[in-house]
This record gives sequence, C-alpha cells and structure tokens, in this order.
Amino acid sequence: MPSVNPENSGTESGIEIVQLPCLSDNYCSLVHHHDSDTTLVIDTPDAEEITRQLEYRGWSLDYVLTTHHHWDHIDGHEQLKEKFGCKIIGSLADHERIPGIDLTVNDDQQLQLGDINIQVIATPGHTLGHVCYWLPEAEAVFTGDTLFSLGCGRLFEGTAEQMWHSIQKIRSLPQQTMIYCGHEYTASNAKFAAHIDPENTRLQQRQMEITELREAGLPTVPVSLKLEQETNPFMRVDLQALQQSLSLSGYSAEQVFAHIRKLKDQF
Ligand SMILES: [Zn+2]
Repeated sequence: MPSVNPENSGTESGIEIVQLPCLSDNYCSLVHHHDSDTTLVIDTPDAEEITRQLEYRGWSLDYVLTTHHHWDHIDGHEQLKEKFGCKIIGSLADHERIPGIDLTVNDDQQLQLGDINIQVIATPGHTLGHVCYWLPEAEAVFTGDTLFSLGCGRLFEGTAEQMWHSIQKIRSLPQQTMIYCGHEYTASNAKFAAHIDPENTRLQQRQMEITELREAGLPTVPVSLKLEQETNPFMRVDLQALQQSLSLSGYSAEQVFAHIRKLKDQF
C-alpha cells in the first residue's frame, strides 16, 4: 500500500485524513468522518488508486472537492461519480472546466458535508478559479497548487499580486493548521528557498529533515503552517530578514513576491 500518515489518523474531531500519493508526484486526500460515515476526497489525480484505498478501508465516497481545473486534479471525477454516485464540488469561476460538477462554491462559503465543516477560501493566482478548503475542526487546509511546502504554484492565469493576497489568506489561519498540498515538490523547493534565504537556520534544519524523509521514501507533507511561516520564502516576502537577504529592502511585498516568483521560474 502507498504510504499514509498514521499520525494524522483518528484525530479528536473524529475526522481521519489519509493522504494518498498518486501519479508521479501528486497528492490527494481522503477525509472520513467516523460518526456520520461521511467520506470526501480532495482532487482526483487517479480514480483507480482512490477507489482501491476507499475499498481497503470499507468507505464509500460521498463528495469530491475540486481545488482547480488542471487535469491532474480532476482526471478521476467522472469515473468516481459513476462508481459511487458522489457529488462533485468546485468553484463557480471554474464550473465550465470541472467535469461532472454538481455544486459550485464561492469565497468564504461554509459547507457542512455530513458532520464535516468546511470553509472555502478563494485563492486566485495559479489559476483564476482556484480554491482551498479549510477544515477548522480537523485543523487542516487543502491548498492544491496554491501553496506547496517551501514554495507556491506557478502563475498560469493570475498575477503575482493576486497570488500574494491568496497566500496571505492561508497565512492568517491558526498556526497549528496542517497544510496538505497537491504535489511533493518540497526537496526542489528547498534548494531554491535556501539559495535566496541562506541565513535562515530553521530552513537549513528543515532541508536536512526533508532529505532524510525522501531517502526513507516518506512524504514531507502535511506540514504545519507555523513551520511554513518560518521557512517558505513565498510567505515571508513582507519580512525584513528576507528582503535584506535579497537586497530588496524598502520594496513592497507584492514587488518582492513577483521578483522571487520570477527567479524561481528560472532557477
Ligand atoms: Zn495546477
């Protein structure tokens, strides 16, 4: 079986989260509420793997939550809907690009699926209709391709300013929130982060932890928001420490963000 994160299983909220590696470097997550027997999946890179993992646990599938319209996040939508009769949820802005969509959502919308409370956070930048899903009781946020550990998504549709605004929304969640993202890009993100923020000792420590985890074949995520705030340069563009390291003191956070996003594209 693919590796899961046992430490995230069976939290006090009665919600169990199972992160599934799919394709070459994607992650999706199953979220199961035991008392109400409700199960949802965030993104569907691989319908067969998702089905296998559901069946292994004896769970059906009630909802698919979509972060954005890229194929590696929606590929399994129709196959899963056909098999389980699940409802497909995604942003209104992307409703024409999400196959099988039943329910559209907007920024700040609250959802209650079974007994699972979810808050929708619109995060344009990587795509214009990208949304993240925050589960306050489970202390988890699913960030798709907006925020990765030590990095952020490429700007395919939105601007640097939009992306920085989106990342600030995630940054304002409670510190202990665990970030579940759409890809295992952490090791290569760490190289860039260390390159532009070489004096950050917490980042150096995290880089060593990442090497150990990857050598053991383990995922580097989920990761706490607190640790990302200390180490992810894309969350730190308004801090003097990073601005000084880039010789960009006095520039606006948007300008620093746009600069490092461009540097990362060429790194
Ligand atoms: Zn994407």
